[in-house]
Amino acid sequence: MTELKINRVQGANGNQAAEGVAVLDAAAVNSAAARELYKKREPIYPKLVHGKFRALKWFLLFATLGVYYLLPWVRWPRGIGEPDQAVLIDFAGGRFYFFFIEIWPSELYYVTGLLILGAVGLFLATALFGRVWCGYACPQTVWTDLYIAVERLIEGDRNKRMRLAQAPWTFEKIRKKSMKHTIWLLIAAATGGAWVFYFHDAPTIFPKLFTGEAPGSAYLFMGLLTFMTYALAGTMREQVCTYMCPWPRIQAALTDDETLQVTYKKDRGEKRGPHKKGETWSGRGDCIDCKACVAACPMGIDIRDGAQLECINCALCIDACDDIMGRIDRPKGLIAYDTDENMFRRSQSKPPKIRLLRSRTIFYGTVFVIVSAIMFMALTSRATLDVNVLRDRTPPFVQLSDGSVRNAYTVKIVNKANVEREFFVKLTGIDTITMGAIGEEVTDNQMRVSVLGDDVRSIRVFATLPPGIDRPASMPLSFIIRESVSDEEKTNPTVFLTERR
Ligand code: SF4
Ligand code: SF4
Repeated sequence: MTELKINRVQGANGNQAAEGVAVLDAAAVNSAAARELYKKREPIYPKLVHGKFRALKWFLLFATLGVYYLLPWVRWPRGIGEPDQAVLIDFAGGRFYFFFIEIWPSELYYVTGLLILGAVGLFLATALFGRVWCGYACPQTVWTDLYIAVERLIEGDRNKRMRLAQAPWTFEKIRKKSMKHTIWLLIAAATGGAWVFYFHDAPTIFPKLFTGEAPGSAYLFMGLLTFMTYALAGTMREQVCTYMCPWPRIQAALTDDETLQVTYKKDRGEKRGPHKKGETWSGRGDCIDCKACVAACPMGIDIRDGAQLECINCALCIDACDDIMGRIDRPKGLIAYDTDENMFRRSQSKPPKIRLLRSRTIFYGTVFVIVSAIMFMALTSRATLDVNVLRDRTPPFVQLSDGSVRNAYTVKIVNKANVEREFFVKLTGIDTITMGAIGEEVTDNQMRVSVLGDDVRSIRVFATLPPGIDRPASMPLSFIIRESVSDEEKTNPTVFLTERR
């Protein structure tokens, strides 16, 4: 950046004096940037606005927080002995329950699929509407919005809060500040507590959290989440988005000139300046420089300075400016969702146009649909039977006194259904082989095994090859496990090892 500036000045002027000025300018820019980076944080006191985007944000705030706090309390009956919590990450039982879906550890690829789906969905939303995630649904935005609402309720709107911050410490100031921080801490503790409920049965662990009977990990994570919520939403706020979050840097690569972003329409707003009632609007812009948009901004920036990394696209400046436009009887939309392309088109006196179908949105949309279809098909055709066969390696085979050879296997039958089921187990691949098992009755070289619902059963199986048969060192052998009612079947190939004769 610095080099570029120097070259441009050199190119334009072509002498050493100009170059020197450019170098000095670059140094000044660098030191100003460094000062900006390390300067003390200036507190931001966003003013309350009313309008369609504020209403949408209130709705999303209540909807997302409602889902987060209440979801662990939703019940979903799954049968006797099964957890009835609709959403539960059961580490002890090795399961993830999500309403009718039950994911076993061997099926974690579903979670990977969901993460891919989430990422592609976010790419698509960003390509279409810019930082819509940051502005409306990111937990940092939602909790900060809630914390600001509490602050506003106790300390008043922007001007009152600013005055209170400057005022000396009186009983009233201490009362207000303590009340605010107490409520913030209660919200933070509720947030940490709700997080714990996703990993335990909520109605069981809730009273235990107060009596000290909950596991240590529950207190640890609750404490961690409480601290993080209080610190990130209460004290750090916009700094998290500006300095800590990588998303603002990444999202620039996902947008283009036709992405809808919160935009100040410079062509309409400039030349800005105060306006008195009855004065003409000709020869000037619609912006009356009232700074209502700046006062409303939770990031403390001025949208009129153009696209900025700090802007989370929350659209509150749109509501603030629309309100002003209504009062001065000018058309709304001086600040609005718009594209860089439209800014250019207007400068060429061409009508604005919105193009949602573009190569990148089509690409993200196609990937989203394909991944969704694969996930849907995988979930609907999901097997309720899984089998693992492990052959003993030490010793790999045993020579019996009558000359026959025996291999031992551990067969694990996973019954993913919620009811007890019966399975037939048999061997195939070697005609003369016989099967035996510890604790199980084998009839006609086939055994019947019942497995409890949502359980795993391990069986020790012996396969024996009689003497006097030509036997290579390794022979393919398969276990066939079939469910007695539905005929759902799994074939697990393995090998039978012998001493070559
Ligand atoms: S400039 Fe507007 S859209 Fe951007 S963060 Fe501030 S209020 Fe939100
Ligand atoms: S709220 Fe609208 S009129 Fe007021 S300063 Fe911002 S852009 Fe200008």
